[in-house]
Amino acid sequence: MERSVESIYTRVARPDPFGTLAARSYRLAAYAMSCGLEAVTVQCRSERWRDALHYVKQQNLSVIVNHQAAHAPDEGHFSVLTNIDEATVEMDDPFKGPGQRVSLERMHSLWQPNRETVGFILIAIGPRTSEANTAARCESPSCPGCGTRLPLSPSPMFVEADWQADGRWKRFFCHGCDAGFSTRGS
Ligand SMILES: [Zn+2]
Repeated sequence: MERSVESIYTRVARPDPFGTLAARSYRLAAYAMSCGLEAVTVQCRSERWRDALHYVKQQNLSVIVNHQAAHAPDEGHFSVLTNIDEATVEMDDPFKGPGQRVSLERMHSLWQPNRETVGFILIAIGPRTSEANTAARCESPSCPGCGTRLPLSPSPMFVEADWQADGRWKRFFCHGCDAGFSTRGS
């Protein structure tokens, strides 16, 4: 799927509460789904953030991280996570270029909430949606806010244990309206 950052941005950007055009995480997930991919926006538990990033990479999911912009700490920004090891995170950053390596300490700092991001948000994008999953989507729960079907995929993101009180994930977000859901009410 070759698309320029600009072409994607124009499809996912919406006016933000401050009057500027801003891309939103749930719109990125919705756009990936419109391209026939499985995608979900999730917030990981802050205390399990490293484990969460390792996990999504181990599952061969593509991962977009919503984090503080390095040049403007009160703004939000999106980068593609390309690798994580015991000491560093590597990201393709549309501002700074591909292969940006930051220490885990720096990543933890960049992933804190600010004016434009709620912190510890990632968009996990999986494989192309199978016919079976397309059929299953008709049976999936609906968002009580907007009625959009919530496909609960890619499946590695919806392992039940990961949604318990000590699990990796805290909330996931509707790709139709950005409403947040938690299985434990946290
Ligand atoms: Zn919704």
